[in-house]
Amino acid sequence: TVGMISLDQQASMAAGTSTSGLFMKKPGRTGDSALSGSGFYVDSEIGGAAATGLGEDLMKGCLSYEIVRLMGTGLTPQQACDQAVYPFVEKLKKRYGKVGEFSLVALNAQGQWGVATNVEFTFSAGNEQQAPAIFMANPGPDQTTI
Ligand code: ASP
Repeated sequence: TVGMISLDQQASMAAGTSTSGLFMKKPGRTGDSALSGSGFYVDSEIGGAAATGLGEDLMKGCLSYEIVRLMGTGLTPQQACDQAVYPFVEKLKKRYGKVGEFSLVALNAQGQWGVATNVEFTFSAGNEQQAPAIFMANPGPDQTTI
């Protein structure tokens, strides 16, 4: 999946996902990418989030909504990603003994971004002053590098 969140000059935000679906998926399966709150969520007054990875696990947490909800309480996008994603990964591990690979990105209405992943993950961020740059994220809080 390619997931994106945008913020325009009128302070309007949008989120989008484009997915080929999971490899070897069953016909008729609907993954997280098509589901608001799960694969993506945005509120122009707060921010947005988008997900990629194993939809069956992502859908158990509605993580895109949860990240936006947490940003709405005053957390930065990075804090919201950390707080939504890593405890959820531990919960899934404890409950099912395993967890699929997934990654989430977030952007708030001030243009700050954050990311959380449980696998090595590459993403891009930029704005009108700075051309999009490629970043790499590793599993765990604050593991992003240029
Ligand atoms: N999230 C997608 C799905 O489960 C898969 C992907 O990220 O490519 O359908």
